[in-house]
Amino acid sequence: MPEPEPKAVAQSSSSAIERRLQRLGLHSNQDCVIHLPIRYEDETQLHTVASARVGQTVQLEGQIAYSEVQLRPRRQLVAMLRDETGSISLRWLHFYPSQQKQVAKGKLVRVRGEIRSGFNGLEIVHPRVSKAGGALAATLTPVYPTTEGLTQAKLRKIIGQALENADFSDTLPEAVRQRFQLIGFAQAVRTLHHPPANITLASLEERTHPAWQRIKFDELLAQQLSLALARALRLQQKALPLVADHTNLFKTLRGQLPFQLTGAQERVIAEITHDLARPYPMHRLLQGDVGSGKTIVAAFAALKAIASKTQVAVMAPTELLAEQHFHKLSAWMSPLGIKVQWLSGSQKSKGKQEILNAIACGDIQLVVGTQALIQTSVEFHRLGLVILDEQHRFGVGQRLALGQKGEQQTDTTPLLPHQLNMSATPIPRTLAMTLFADLDVSVLDALPPGRQAVVTKLLADNRRDELIAHIYAEIKKGRQVYWVCPLVEESEALQLQTAVDTHAYLQSVLPDLSIGMVHGRLKSAEKTAVMDAFRSGEISLLVATTVIEVGVDVPNATLMVIEHAERFGLAQLHQLRGRVGRGAAQSVCVLLYQPPLSAVARQRLRAMYETSDGFEIARRDLAIRGPGEFLGLRQSGVPLLRFADIETDSRLVQQAQALAAELLANARDVAQAHLDRWMQGKHVYLRS
Ligand code: ADP
Ligand code: MG
Repeated sequence: MPEPEPKAVAQSSSSAIERRLQRLGLHSNQDCVIHLPIRYEDETQLHTVASARVGQTVQLEGQIAYSEVQLRPRRQLVAMLRDETGSISLRWLHFYPSQQKQVAKGKLVRVRGEIRSGFNGLEIVHPRVSKAGGALAATLTPVYPTTEGLTQAKLRKIIGQALENADFSDTLPEAVRQRFQLIGFAQAVRTLHHPPANITLASLEERTHPAWQRIKFDELLAQQLSLALARALRLQQKALPLVADHTNLFKTLRGQLPFQLTGAQERVIAEITHDLARPYPMHRLLQGDVGSGKTIVAAFAALKAIASKTQVAVMAPTELLAEQHFHKLSAWMSPLGIKVQWLSGSQKSKGKQEILNAIACGDIQLVVGTQALIQTSVEFHRLGLVILDEQHRFGVGQRLALGQKGEQQTDTTPLLPHQLNMSATPIPRTLAMTLFADLDVSVLDALPPGRQAVVTKLLADNRRDELIAHIYAEIKKGRQVYWVCPLVEESEALQLQTAVDTHAYLQSVLPDLSIGMVHGRLKSAEKTAVMDAFRSGEISLLVATTVIEVGVDVPNATLMVIEHAERFGLAQLHQLRGRVGRGAAQSVCVLLYQPPLSAVARQRLRAMYETSDGFEIARRDLAIRGPGEFLGLRQSGVPLLRFADIETDSRLVQQAQALAAELLANARDVAQAHLDRWMQGKHVYLRS
């Protein structure tokens, strides 16, 4: 099917404006149709001074009874408007001479603005002024989501013009509308852009009005359609079924481990091996809280693929973590006669070609690395399984590129590798149900036995001295400690500087301890050396930036200090805290904060204090941030909901899910038309 040419938004002039419109996702007239107001202003009626209440936005008409530029207490224009019911002050802190003329004494004007309680009774600051007696608006005035550099008035005009040229045809047949009691599409969007003066404002604001119901249904239907499609497409893809007998290899690996797999691990390994035997690619998300033991599960999955004579790629978002995986996997796999290779971007080019050759001819069975694995120069012999750790850290592009590594040109369909995604940031069920309907999900819902929950303490920054004494005592007991430096969002250099300062400070107050430091600017060999020294106990206190956030596993570390904890996000704090509590000893996480705390920061720290359950943390994180920010989903390519809410609109979600399946089975043209309208250039096309 040919791609529809996107129509230029009506007469939008300069390219600067176009760029701003694009930032809002407005590429065509059609996009403007579903760019809906966030609220409305009522310019359909006039109020009287006597009826105006503080906080209300009003429109008043009257005569200017007084107008003067005052110089004290500051320069400002002050005027007084009088109607037949009373008078009210108007005030401008910045003004042009033209504005001053507009409200000269004696003028008849209409003013509009929010009523505030001022020094001399009620007032409006910076009201909008026009001539008295003009026509009143017939409909409520829309206020659209906009972006910097694009005024409400300009956007209103552009959308208004776009609506005149847009297509309002209904993508849902009459029968469907009747069945789900939906109003027509044209009626719904026209109502939402320009609601009649007599509409119940609350039904718009709470999005319960039938017009909103229709829009939300349409949006959910588009989402369900695209998810169902992604799934259908995957089932049509081909992958090598990995079916070799793994009994002996599994038995040997089990025998080697110093622990027994938990029931949850056994169950998930079975789910994965079952999937791998299918002739289409597995897309499985393995969710397990920090410390739940996902790495060993990945090792068993890899073993199944290797038993079936294919290669496995394990990819981690940071070099530190990838390297740790390499150590663990080598220790487990090498005794089984499996060749494991480390591959990173910073690796010396000398010898690298040999490694690449060994991968390309299949001598190496398991490759562990970072993003370097998806560089085009890496060619696999027969890639059967790709494992992504901390999958939410990778962009969609990277995930796709790795999948394409496996495409082997056979006579018929390309073979894709199976994919196992692992994540310690659990996605709440409701969100997973709609957003990840295309992934199969396995959950490690039990921690290995003998773990004690980490005790979390909140400590104001001025009680550092007590903390230092505590660190000293802990280390004298033979334990190890992390000190995480504050996040400095705006500058990596500054963040590095804080780490260096903190290191010097700790060395000065704890002179007889061996203190190390790790941060993102270290060369990878230096990083490795520091981490090895920490792992072996040579270093007892490790000052670190957030490079240690994910995955790092040193079970003897029992105390973690997070400085300026109020600057971190909830998911990040939970990840960091997961670096301790990995052995049998009781661990403590101290959240050092700088008062006063903002309301949101207080909510986050309280959540950390109250629970250590990753799913509960995720649920609260979702509540604090909303699904858009949560997990950085915005960049993940997952279609987000703008209007519907999966919690409150769960009935609509179910209806849309049912209808999506029906349309895909019986009315593909309807489904396609609907996707065209809603997927805004995301190019989802049905293949018939
Ligand atoms: P995560 O799920 O956060 O990636 P890891 O795979 O790093 O967790 O495992 C955390 C720690 O728990 C590791 O030291 C690992 O060896 C250990 N571990 C994993 N499974 C078990 C088990 N069944 N019993 C005891 N310890 C285990
Ligand atoms: Mg891990």
